[in-house]
Amino acid sequence: MYADIVGPDVGDVVNEQSVLILPVGAVEQHGPHLPMSVDDVIATETATAVVSTFGDEHDLWQLPTLSISKSNEHAWCPGTLWLSPETMMSVLRDIGRSIATTRAERLVLLNGHGGNTTLLVTALRELRLEFGLKTFLVHPSLPPAYGGTSTEVELGMGIHGGLNETSVFMHLRPDLVDLSRAERKVPEKIASNAHVKFGGSVSFGWLSNDFDDVGYIGDPTGATAERGAELFRHAVTTIGEQMNEIRAFNFGR
Ligand SMILES: [Zn+2]
Repeated sequence: MYADIVGPDVGDVVNEQSVLILPVGAVEQHGPHLPMSVDDVIATETATAVVSTFGDEHDLWQLPTLSISKSNEHAWCPGTLWLSPETMMSVLRDIGRSIATTRAERLVLLNGHGGNTTLLVTALRELRLEFGLKTFLVHPSLPPAYGGTSTEVELGMGIHGGLNETSVFMHLRPDLVDLSRAERKVPEKIASNAHVKFGGSVSFGWLSNDFDDVGYIGDPTGATAERGAELFRHAVTTIGEQMNEIRAFNFGR
């Protein structure tokens, strides 16, 4: 853990080969069957597993999780904690400025919340330009709106609190899931669109209560901890492979 390094030793322990990983979570409503901590737990647990599995091999350092992020698509739900895009970008810039005081050259954002993705991609360039860092974005599972897959049974629209996310969380925190409060909530009409849909050629602005009052989007009813364990293992392995390339990445020069 990065924060466990003794201050005066940072200059020796963290060097040009080191890769710093910032888990980015969220504290936001996930419907009645899941707690608000889902994205925070998934981002943190994934980072922890990646660092414990590949940390020595790739010189990985886990930063404290940025637990509150850009969850304003859930601002309608009392209790959701969120930063505005402007605040979030400022926070990332300040973290980048701090990291640039170390010898580390590579910063990986490990994002557990799909609603952050666009802003995080923008931040990669801001931090590259302003502080010279080599910056990367990885996901435990790529959001469907960014080329990731969602299950057939959810028509590719299991984007929030659906089958896969609920399963992963059941694997990580079984006591915090109540499937008796879950039902199928898939916006079927949008799924038949050729262009205006998640991952389609036309992007659209949306809030999580635009589709239904329940605030989750997908079909969590078939979620199982076993499925979640498999997805989690796959995510950790994939990010391990990604770290292998990230560590060597040098723009081909
Ligand atoms: Zn989530």
